[in-house]
Amino acid sequence: MSSQLQSTTSAQSIPSYLHADDLGPWGNYLRQVDRVAPYLGSSSRWLETLKRPKRILIVDVPIELDNGTVAHFEGYRVQHNVSRGPGKGGVRYHQDVTLSEVMALSAWMSVKNAAVNVPYGGAKGGIRVDPRKLSRGELERVTRRYTSEIGIIIGPNTDIPAPDVNTNEQIMAWMMDTYSMNQGQTATGVVTGKPISLGGSLGRREATGRGVFVVGTEAARRVGLDIQGARIAVQGFGNVGGIAARLFEEAGAKVIAVQDHTGSLYKASGIDTNALLAHVANTGGVGGFTGADPLANDEFWTIESDILIPAALENQITEKNAGKIKTKIIVEGANGPTTTAADDILHDKGVLIIPDVVANAGGVTVSYFEWVQDFSSFFWTEDEINQRLERVMREAFNAVWQVASENKVSMRTAAFIVACKRILMAREMRGLYP
Ligand code: GLU
Repeated sequence: MSSQLQSTTSAQSIPSYLHADDLGPWGNYLRQVDRVAPYLGSSSRWLETLKRPKRILIVDVPIELDNGTVAHFEGYRVQHNVSRGPGKGGVRYHQDVTLSEVMALSAWMSVKNAAVNVPYGGAKGGIRVDPRKLSRGELERVTRRYTSEIGIIIGPNTDIPAPDVNTNEQIMAWMMDTYSMNQGQTATGVVTGKPISLGGSLGRREATGRGVFVVGTEAARRVGLDIQGARIAVQGFGNVGGIAARLFEEAGAKVIAVQDHTGSLYKASGIDTNALLAHVANTGGVGGFTGADPLANDEFWTIESDILIPAALENQITEKNAGKIKTKIIVEGANGPTTTAADDILHDKGVLIIPDVVANAGGVTVSYFEWVQDFSSFFWTEDEINQRLERVMREAFNAVWQVASENKVSMRTAAFIVACKRILMAREMRGLYP
């Protein structure tokens, strides 16, 4: 090996922003990738590709606030990998968004899209802003300016944003409009998760929660857990946790504990999820709901349940609380909710973890259906979409289950094996150019 080649793969040559800082999500992702290396055979030659995002764009997003002053926000769009198709992944608005986080989220999109075999690479975007502090007009101006700034790298065939934490159909409509106005033509396929009236797909809003429910019931079946009467605990009661909770309740389970950024709740006989969804729609969070008892935030993790669904942000299950968790199955509705250290603790305790890259892939799967429908300008029924979604989720779950049993590894490592093989095979077939 020439000394030049050696230096490109040595740790010293890795730019500082790519290092695994031990606590951040990007570090967590790198450790997950390292666990897969021994199972990749000849593809492991290309593994370094997955440790370096293909393209990172950092943008300044200035807007005029309602009070006449100008505020600047930092925005990102990271295209982690495009070997299997265009970049794809959501846009997050949150006061704690960092580049390391968006990099990790973009990488998890590459793995997720490959794990469920939708023909995309992985990308993610974000703005460091607390959207709750913005008026509707300010939110629109932030969205439009951000879209214009990242307009140089997004497009229906290059990189397709979608909703994520604190972004929704309205924000997707503004993004689609801004991109389209700049292009001089309406390009519905530039984002997914749009309103139905603008080329959105039936079933997209519920898709991530529905996917969590589908793989959750599949996992329960494998370990002999009856959903009827099963105790469910959910962290995050938004578009993912709220919908998943409602579907589990409809299937006969009891949602006994719920937590979000406004508080925690407990009710042994089961919380009425429709009433709680209505409360969240009115007040913005689960706090203050009178249909259950309030619970201290730390206690949420100690409540005994059958299925625990972290559906909020990353790094929620760490070595600090993993030892206290008493559950049979964890279904990761959020991206990156469990650190690698916590993963090991839970694995030793015999908890089955259905990893994010499979468990929450329902959203991007129906995003794919939406994009296909936009291109063909022909729209499917909600039944067709839900059936196809269920099929994709079950097939992905079964393939990963099989690899996990064959190699005696966790479902996370198995999902990474399936996904990384697909990505790296595409990488190898395409070859290096120029
Ligand atoms: N934000 C969602 C995710 O993390 C959906 C992404 C998409 O539909 O592109 O998977």
